[in-house]
Amino acid sequence: MDLKLDQQSTGENKPKETEKDLIIVGAGAGGLAAAQYGARANLRTLVIEELASGGQALNIDGLENYPGFPEPVNGFELSQQLEQQAKNFGAEILMGTATEITKKGNTFTVKTTMGDYTAPTVIAATGSKHRLLGIPGEKEFSGRGVSYCATCDGPFFKNKKMLVVGGGDAACDESMFLSKLSDKVVLVHRRDRFRAQKSLADRVLHNENIETRFNTVPVEIRGENKVEKVLLKNSETGEEYEEAFDAVFVFIGSIPQNQLFPDTEKDEVGHILTNQRMETNVPGMYAVGDLRSTPFRQLVVAAGEGAIAAHSASQYIDDLEGQAYE
Ligand code: NAP
Repeated sequence: MDLKLDQQSTGENKPKETEKDLIIVGAGAGGLAAAQYGARANLRTLVIEELASGGQALNIDGLENYPGFPEPVNGFELSQQLEQQAKNFGAEILMGTATEITKKGNTFTVKTTMGDYTAPTVIAATGSKHRLLGIPGEKEFSGRGVSYCATCDGPFFKNKKMLVVGGGDAACDESMFLSKLSDKVVLVHRRDRFRAQKSLADRVLHNENIETRFNTVPVEIRGENKVEKVLLKNSETGEEYEEAFDAVFVFIGSIPQNQLFPDTEKDEVGHILTNQRMETNVPGMYAVGDLRSTPFRQLVVAAGEGAIAAHSASQYIDDLEGQAYE
């Protein structure tokens, strides 16, 4: 990951104003694709990321539906490639946390823990974070059997009994991954059928290592120092029963990370609304990926949205030509 070298020379208490054409907040697939297209269009492009490039892709062991990869590609490896490709075209990637974005005239100022940066366009690509079950024992045993990342933590529970909670693509995908590590995977979903794409759901239902229980929810996670048992409830009959598990993997959706973008219009869940050019209601600001209100959240969709957003930003800057940035 690149650190801005000119930033270091300013001294840590004196943020340096760096003029950019495009600032992208978030280095998931959407942000990195936008960076590549922005830099390739000759925009001085800065990506700000607080963790590591890749976003949600980092949690995926084998991506089998990203175009161009007939064999499943590891999410971390794909992210590295996306980052390198963006850098090859001249995009800079800053490790730091964006803390506030303000706009004066046609200029956005993005405050970060590494200094302040200005640009006429900003792409919001901060994605989402996992939703919590909110049941007793979840926080207590987080990191001690409760996990939100099968790729990261699954190998610790090889041949152990694992509970997966959720009914969407993530729960099904990750159950498939865990079924390669153990033949004792139990997937519970609160409804009577999966929300996940049918092809994925069918594979789960036909997987001998996964036992699917519909209309079932976890009520409490129990143990001494680590996960040992889960109290489950059949929501149809109301019956509650305790069952031994070594791990609980939670994949029940995500919460959009929209805090930096208070002035953008959002849907009822908090995803940012855009038009088909990825423009938000704030001129010069765009939104892509899991943060955006969209019917289908996929890496390839996020990457496509990133390309559109960067193209729109480039056109917006062309339109501004002749106007002074304040
Ligand atoms: P999702 O599609 O929103 O599904 C979340 C699931 O969790 C739903 O089935 C939901 O139940 C259930 N749920 C929510 N709150 C719950 C609670 N408190 N207790 C128990 N269950 C609860 O989320 P996701 O699976 O994380 O996927 C997010 C996005 O990423 C989706 O757009 C998905 O398509 C995409 N994705 C795609 C892939 C892939 O293509 N391979 C892989 C991963 C993710 P209800 O159905 O009753 O609402």
